[in-house]
Amino acid sequence: MATLSFSGFCRLALLLAAATLVITPAMARHHHHRSHKSHLPPAGQSAAPAPETPAAAPIPEPRPAEEPDRESELEPQTPVVAPTPPEKPAEVAPEPPATAPTPPEKPAQVNLPPDPRSAELPADKMPQEEVACRDRLKALGVEFEEHKAEHDAAIGCSIPYPIILKTLGKSIGIGSGAELNCRMAEAAARFAADVIQPAAKAEFGADLKSITQASAFVCRPRHGGEKLSEHAFGNALDIASFTLADGKKIEIGPVPPEKDAEFLNTVRKAACGPFKTVLGPGSDPDHALHFHFDLEPRRHGGTFCQ
Ligand SMILES: [Zn+2]
Repeated sequence: MATLSFSGFCRLALLLAAATLVITPAMARHHHHRSHKSHLPPAGQSAAPAPETPAAAPIPEPRPAEEPDRESELEPQTPVVAPTPPEKPAEVAPEPPATAPTPPEKPAQVNLPPDPRSAELPADKMPQEEVACRDRLKALGVEFEEHKAEHDAAIGCSIPYPIILKTLGKSIGIGSGAELNCRMAEAAARFAADVIQPAAKAEFGADLKSITQASAFVCRPRHGGEKLSEHAFGNALDIASFTLADGKKIEIGPVPPEKDAEFLNTVRKAACGPFKTVLGPGSDPDHALHFHFDLEPRRHGGTFCQ
């Protein structure tokens, strides 16, 4: 190792002294800056050997340059984190499609006849379909009168535009108090003219004179109580018997006379289609003494006939 000569030592001492003179004001400025920039390197570096400080001065410049780089590296990473939020919206997006499948079912129902049931309150002006229905009833020779709206919010019974039948056709009577929605009344009138009357003529050689109804609009839950009866919407008609022009009465029951049974079977079979629900003797004890016809819409326009 080289030994330091006296002259060399003196030069070094001078250099150190000169360096100290130069650096002191620089350090003072540094401290001044530090008071404003709290994020600068800790003050402990000022205790480092003086000659190194000039070298340390340029270093702070690359550091700020590195820091932005690190930030810029972090920034691209945040976008990487950002894609996850887009994924959440993507998860939300599938949910609206979940509601979309329901519209496809509606188009299928569009092909079906409109639901005669309605829980709505009557409007100031009668809807066109109700007016048109009444025109068709008149054309069938049906006499009827308007009745005030039925609306029981507690039970759910409702007929916005009920009618009470006076007759079921030009020469077909019906028991009093037959309150129905218009479409059910129309279905019953057409069925009486197109099916019951011809069946009576064919089986007994006599015209149909009248129909005895057991119930039409009734605001009560269905037996069993799981849902409202179609009667609660004026959408069902119960028939207890048929009376012919010659006075013969055909009653619906478990064991009718043979000829009556043929007539009743013909009527009952033919009812499945024009009416969406057909029940009677054999269906259940509640229907042992009457036919139940209604227009409850069923899936795919199907029927329920027992
Ligand atoms: Zn019924």
